[in-house]
Order: sequence, then structure tokens, then C-alpha cells
Amino acid sequence: MSSKNKVVQNVCTMCGGTYPLKDFKRRLSKRQSASLLRRESVRIAITVISSRCRFCWQQTKRKAPLTTKQIKQKKASGDMHATVADILLTQRKQNATAIKSRIMKEYWEKKRAEPIQQLTKNLRQQVAKYKNRYHATKAQNPHHALLRQHRENYEQAKQVRNDLLSRARSGESISPDVLIDVYFKKGGAV
Ligand SMILES: [Zn+2]
Repeated sequence: MSSKNKVVQNVCTMCGGTYPLKDFKRRLSKRQSASLLRRESVRIAITVISSRCRFCWQQTKRKAPLTTKQIKQKKASGDMHATVADILLTQRKQNATAIKSRIMKEYWEKKRAEPIQQLTKNLRQQVAKYKNRYHATKAQNPHHALLRQHRENYEQAKQVRNDLLSRARSGESISPDVLIDVYFKKGGAV
């Protein structure tokens, strides 16, 4: 008895009823769990505390969600309480807007990231060439006449790479195929 009195109560946002917390616990499907966690898939379905009690949830739960038209029809026919219908219609509208804006946001984020990814790859390859040339020359002959020049080129290449990447990241349009030595100080490149 005493433990029952300690049960946390929750108020349903749909019917306004007050019930024990267990009546708000809802085990999601794996697909719903994955979507909530923003993952491709999950191994174990998760349980959430719903804002709706299980009685309301069971009433609106069905395999295929009601279409906007069906909700309006049910509201008109009195099969569904007007308040419940309005809540569902609002949710539907908000969901559609949220999904649309998320898709657009993801699209633009991807679009923005593409040229920078290409640029990063291109610069990495070019810097690697300068690095390899310096180290290969050094390994061959530490007193090679061009060793110092190769080292300077390598240092400059890294600087140019960092500079171009930070400019690209701050929104400047840099060609993804840009050549590093174009930015070398005069007399730098060999
Ligand atoms: Zn309820």
C-alpha cells in the first residue's frame, strides 16, 4: 500500500487525466527507436514516457496513421472528439513542417560540405607530394643542394593548405581543384 502512494503521477496532454507513470510508458518499435535516436538501426527497442496516457494512445494507435482527411471526417461525424482531432491535426501539420525543414537543412549542409571535402582531399594529396619529396631527398642525401628548398616548399604547402581551408570554411569560394604552388611566395616553387 505504502509503495503505491509513492507512485509518480502524470497528466495526459490529450485527455487531461492523471494516471500513474506506468500508464505513460510506451515501448517503441525498433524503427521508431532508431528514428528517435537518429540512427540507422537499433538492436534493442527503447521505452519512452509518452505525453499521452495509454488509453488515449490505444485509441489513436493503428497500423496506418489516419490521414488529415480521415481525421476531419471523424471530427465532423463525431467519431472523434473535436479537441483530440484538433490536436492530431496540429501535430500532423507540425510534423510535416519539421520533416520538410529537416530534409532541406540536411540537403544544404551536404551541398555546402561537398566542395570543402573535395578541396580538403586535393590539398592533402598536394601537401603529401611536397612532404614525400622532402623526406625522400633527405633520406637519399642529407646534404642535397635542394633539400632546404624542398623543406621550405613543404612548409609553405602546409601554410597554404591551412589558409585555404580556413577561408573555405568561413564561406569563401575556393576552387576544389586549386593548385597550392600558385600561392607560393615568388621563387618558392622548384
Ligand atoms: Zn489520456
